[in-house]
Amino acid sequence: MIPRLKPALGREELTAALRPSSPDDVERFEQEFASRMGQKHAVAFPYGRTALMMLLEAFGIKGREVICPAYTCVVVAHAIVMSGNEPVFVDSSESGFNMDLSLAAGAITEKTAAIVATSLFGYPVDLGAIEQIRREHPHVRIIQDCCHSFDCSWKGKPVQRAGDAAFFGMNISKLMTSIFGGMVSIDDDSLAQRLRDLRDQKLEPAPFSKSLRRLAYLLAVYPAFSPELYGVTNAMERAGLLGGLADYYDESRIDMPADHLQRMCAIEARVGCVQATKLPEIIAHRRRLAADYDRDLRGVGGLTLPPLVEGATYSHYVARIASREALIEKMRGHGVQLGRLIEYCIPEMKAYQGKKFINRNVSPRLKNETLNLPVHSSIGEAQREKIVRLLKQLISKA
Ligand SMILES: *Cc1c(COP(=O)(O)O)cnc(C)c1O
Repeated sequence: MIPRLKPALGREELTAALRPSSPDDVERFEQEFASRMGQKHAVAFPYGRTALMMLLEAFGIKGREVICPAYTCVVVAHAIVMSGNEPVFVDSSESGFNMDLSLAAGAITEKTAAIVATSLFGYPVDLGAIEQIRREHPHVRIIQDCCHSFDCSWKGKPVQRAGDAAFFGMNISKLMTSIFGGMVSIDDDSLAQRLRDLRDQKLEPAPFSKSLRRLAYLLAVYPAFSPELYGVTNAMERAGLLGGLADYYDESRIDMPADHLQRMCAIEARVGCVQATKLPEIIAHRRRLAADYDRDLRGVGGLTLPPLVEGATYSHYVARIASREALIEKMRGHGVQLGRLIEYCIPEMKAYQGKKFINRNVSPRLKNETLNLPVHSSIGEAQREKIVRLLKQLISKA
């Protein structure tokens, strides 16, 4: 079966994970990451959401409003709430998936302390619009959510560097992984120091049991995503047996994983270090696949293809189709798993009802129509041709 996602993990990551730990593993990963992102500093955290919480705290933001996309990973809103702030949700733009920055600018009040701008699915945030917001509202911090984008660029400018800080999440569904783990990349020396101090104060050192859990998880990932066994993985996911992979959110609760205040462990850092060196190759492969899907699927009736954007890194290749569920089922029958990311609009979720939402009715529609075609490292020529052939055949029959 062709999975909808698959981490680009090879022998080197396994070897790195099994090596004895050294006290500077995390620091080495931070340096490698910072240099890949072209920034002076990187500070590691256990999750992307913890990185965002600590960033807000380092900026001294509490009891304020933080503007974020309505259509993004729900853990972003959780981190805003858990840090003692109010999320203000802004709809996606008509022309793409990212938050509409003119609506975001209009939502700024004297209570607004920060904007979380997300390069969703790897599409770069419009840095021209960000620059204008910075000029007109210098008191508003700009935080780049690069969890989907990892070094994407807008008109040649790297997105992570355009703002006060950027954060990244590195679970196995991201472009690169450190098993779990998060990172902040930042140029400001004193802010980097404040973040490190906060981490030392607020986060406990990773206990040995965490290293064992992470290693066990990594060892389970290899066979779970192999072509021979993925059918079993998929069946288990559908039966609700894989808590973490399938249901990472609960409609009605705002919470954090129990270990969200335990530091990144050395095993994760060593795996992340290897992955960081592969990032250029991972991104190049995704860009090629996006261009190939675009060429081969253009004109297939009922299927809206995503734009090809210069500088995008395509964490997901997201087409849209009205009759999504039927197609997903049929493709699965032919051994191809398609994804639905993101299948919710946060302010419509039970836990966030009644929160401010600047709604233009874009994301409430997007959530039912998105269809992710696989773009991971195991998609070669043959797999892509199979996916394209099946899509053409099954959509035209419907
Ligand atoms: C994955 C992700 C995060 C952070 O996820 P963690 O699981 O906390 O590492 C944040 N924003 C977006 C858009 C994401 O996809």
